[in-house]
Amino acid sequence: MKDYVIGLDLGGTNIRAAAVNREGEILHRVKIPTEVPLGRERVIANILKVIDTIKKEHKGLKLSAVGMGIPGVIFFDKGIVARSPNFPDWIDFNLRERLNKYLNVPFYIDNDANLAAVGEGWLGAGKKFNSFCMLTLGTGVGGGIVLNKNIWRGEYGMAGELGHITIYPDGHPCNCGNRGCLEQYASATGIVRMAMEENPPSPPFTKGGKEGGITADKIYQLAKNGDRYSLEIFQKMGRILGIGIADLVNILNIELFVLGGGVADSWNYFIDSAIDEIKKRTYRITGERVKVVKAELGDDAGIFGAAYMAMKEEISNSR
Ligand SMILES: [Zn+2]
Repeated sequence: MKDYVIGLDLGGTNIRAAAVNREGEILHRVKIPTEVPLGRERVIANILKVIDTIKKEHKGLKLSAVGMGIPGVIFFDKGIVARSPNFPDWIDFNLRERLNKYLNVPFYIDNDANLAAVGEGWLGAGKKFNSFCMLTLGTGVGGGIVLNKNIWRGEYGMAGELGHITIYPDGHPCNCGNRGCLEQYASATGIVRMAMEENPPSPPFTKGGKEGGITADKIYQLAKNGDRYSLEIFQKMGRILGIGIADLVNILNIELFVLGGGVADSWNYFIDSAIDEIKKRTYRITGERVKVVKAELGDDAGIFGAAYMAMKEEISNSR
């Protein structure tokens, strides 16, 4: 019997999932609201509902494994959600143990940014490379490090927190407890804050931040129309991103950096200053070979990554 796996992306707003075969084709998709405010049991019921819906659609095929990406600190080996910004009451919660009661197939979880990198490595921008870093520039900055075709999880799953590399020692405070993290400048949130801090503030930014309707997308639109302040903000963001990438180049001698997330759409306005900075801060021999490219799979990277992880683990565990 032909088989398939299910890849899930557990977000704060929606659960997105797909049945994926070994060739990387999506057979079926499901998306339902996560319903976080209704509590943990409801979220778990929704995860099971998604899996059930997909299973019913594929009665002639064998479900081999289920993989899922979750934001936060995930202990991959044990299937534990240690901390998650989207699920504040899931502290050291053994999700695998909880779901194993209902699933009779292997179930794996990992950090969502790690799985986005795995997905891009399987079918997207990283597929021709053995090693690369992915940075997801969204509300925050997520990271994933792929070394020799494997995600580098670190000693207990905390590797790849690329958004928390220090750029400014006394910079803006970050949720992680540090100051001046990359995430505070290279994310949508960081871009809006930098715009508000403009000195002197230009007219679009003088009123009330997000409440005043200023979003990273609006700043992007202004940059497109040639607004000088908006262009400067993206240049500054690019510079900071370039400094972060240069550090990674110096540590890892990686040649490919894949940028995903909504902020990456502002590519034309930040990429030149990022590349400039990478070249300035690395040895010529390494810096000149660095390629920075856009992610190719969009929102599906996490689903493909979760599916691929499930396939790979299921194969290595059944040996
Ligand atoms: Zn931080």
